[in-house]
Amino acid sequence: MTQIPRAAVIGNPISHSLSPKLHNYWLRRYQLQGEYVALQVAEDALEKTLRQMPQDGFIGANVTIPHKVSVMQLADHITDRATLIGAANTLIFKNDGKIFADNTDGYGFIANLRQGAPDWDPKAGPAAIFGAGGAARAIIVALADAGVPEILLANRTRPKAEALKTEFGTRIQVVDWVQANLMLADARTVINTTSLGMKGGPEFKVSLEALRPDAVVTDIVYNPLRTPFLQAAEAAGCITVDGLGMLLHQGVPGFERWFGKRPEVDEETRRAVLS
Ligand code: NAP
Repeated sequence: MTQIPRAAVIGNPISHSLSPKLHNYWLRRYQLQGEYVALQVAEDALEKTLRQMPQDGFIGANVTIPHKVSVMQLADHITDRATLIGAANTLIFKNDGKIFADNTDGYGFIANLRQGAPDWDPKAGPAAIFGAGGAARAIIVALADAGVPEILLANRTRPKAEALKTEFGTRIQVVDWVQANLMLADARTVINTTSLGMKGGPEFKVSLEALRPDAVVTDIVYNPLRTPFLQAAEAAGCITVDGLGMLLHQGVPGFERWFGKRPEVDEETRRAVLS
């Protein structure tokens, strides 16, 4: 008997993840045999779980907090972009038991910007990034790859931004968090990668008064969809792109590898995930 191909998202906690909704929607939409589940995996159970999963019919997995960095130690093949970012979010289990690891967060970020702001030109001018956490790493790599000439980076904990500059090169200028608003005067791409603005969490308080109306502004926080950060940018006349599309697009390469069909990210997909 052939087993139904299974994939999962692994993390801890995991109940908030939208990935099962997304992948099961695509499976239904394309009438594919398959199943996608959420697995809560404690840090000390990661290796055992990954070794067991192929035996339970899993062909791959998405990886989320807190395992994105530690899975790198357990992978047999790692893509260049995952190596550069230092973290993986997509795994493929090969027939011989080997684990292939990729990072599609930067891809998802860029695909979302290109879909939401089709005229966005990464080369038009500097990008300003708020935040220097895990997501910022993937975004910095993707923006540099897309040809952004300069990256202005502000983080509450400045040494973390300095560390990214050391790692990713001279194209990055670190700006103090208390002066983060100054990044906006020249920026043509503006991104909030902090968790500020999430429903129930602390507010994003940096003034956005200096935003250029020709800037493309995106927030990777997607709950709520229209964050106060995006609302302020919209009021300044900027084109804004919400963060849900990043989540949807980052799922595309994994789904295609596991289930053999490149899925669409469109209005119907958004509705299915938000329902
Ligand atoms: P992370 O590694 O924990 O980084 C969190 C970032 O937020 C850091 O830069 C941190 O600054 C900053 N921050 C947190 N609280 C702050 C505060 N009170 N004031 C100023 N800065 C603060 O998390 P992450 O993985 O990068 O994720 C960041 C956010 O992006 C989360 O909300 C996550 O849900 C979202 N996200 C969305 C997608 C998507 O697909 N749309 C993908 C990944 C992540 P310090 O360094 O000073 O602590």
